[in-house]
Amino acid sequence: MGQGALPHPLTGQAFPSPVPPGTGWPEDPACHDTLVAGTADDVGVLSATDDLDELGARVSVCRACPRLVAWREDVALKKRASFADQPYWGRPIAGWGAANPSVLIVGLAPAANGGNRTGRIFTGDSSGDWLFASLHRTGLARQPTSLHAGDGQALIDARMVAAVRCAPPDNKPTPEEITRCLDHLDVELALLPNVRVVVALGKIGFDAWLQLMKRRGARACPRPQFGHGVVADLDSKLPLLMGCYHPSRQNTNTGKLTAPMMEAVFGKARRLLEARPRTAR
Ligand code: SF4
Repeated sequence: MGQGALPHPLTGQAFPSPVPPGTGWPEDPACHDTLVAGTADDVGVLSATDDLDELGARVSVCRACPRLVAWREDVALKKRASFADQPYWGRPIAGWGAANPSVLIVGLAPAANGGNRTGRIFTGDSSGDWLFASLHRTGLARQPTSLHAGDGQALIDARMVAAVRCAPPDNKPTPEEITRCLDHLDVELALLPNVRVVVALGKIGFDAWLQLMKRRGARACPRPQFGHGVVADLDSKLPLLMGCYHPSRQNTNTGKLTAPMMEAVFGKARRLLEARPRTAR
């Protein structure tokens, strides 16, 4: 087993070394490349299944990123004082929502005391409050709040995933961790053939999606730039990509992101579905 490698929780085999940096969208102005991003094959092996529920179970035992495993478990052990009487999930967060959605919402990563506590992305924190209020008003969520995993909430024709499934320190995953965790999203996307619009919350989620699409051979020149309400059409057989400011306190408390702005994005996402025919990927 190589230096720094951890045994796979199911197979006992070593995970590969961290993927080297620099695997993002190349700046080559000719844009003639197709991305062959470094991937951690054992992560793909872990999540290799054709069943969404099984995928969730497999992802939940991933320990491929030593730094994130240590952080998520340390937070779960120490707990925020206001949640001291609650159990923490302290594991990777699986995608959730409709099993065959048209809309996929891609967040950055679980919050340390939000998703990492409740076991569901954007659940039990202020970002989730903002997000689900907008999703409910635009008909994509059953309820305006997302409090805990058993609260009766449901996404309507939509699914939600994190680009990085484990809570990172300071909400900042490394490029290597993003690249590695995209293997899980790659598998999940293959099981969601009807996704036609992807809403990426924040620049990191937006760029992570571009990286994943380049793995699938997408070419776009110039490289799409993140912005609130930006729509990128990478390929007629790939979902449209929309940018949306992340509903973090930093954005919502400063007025950079308002409720009408967020609803405008999800309303537009729904209208874009009508313009995007279903195509086999
Ligand atoms: S971030 Fe992703 S790849 Fe890394 S340990 Fe968590 S689930 Fe596994």
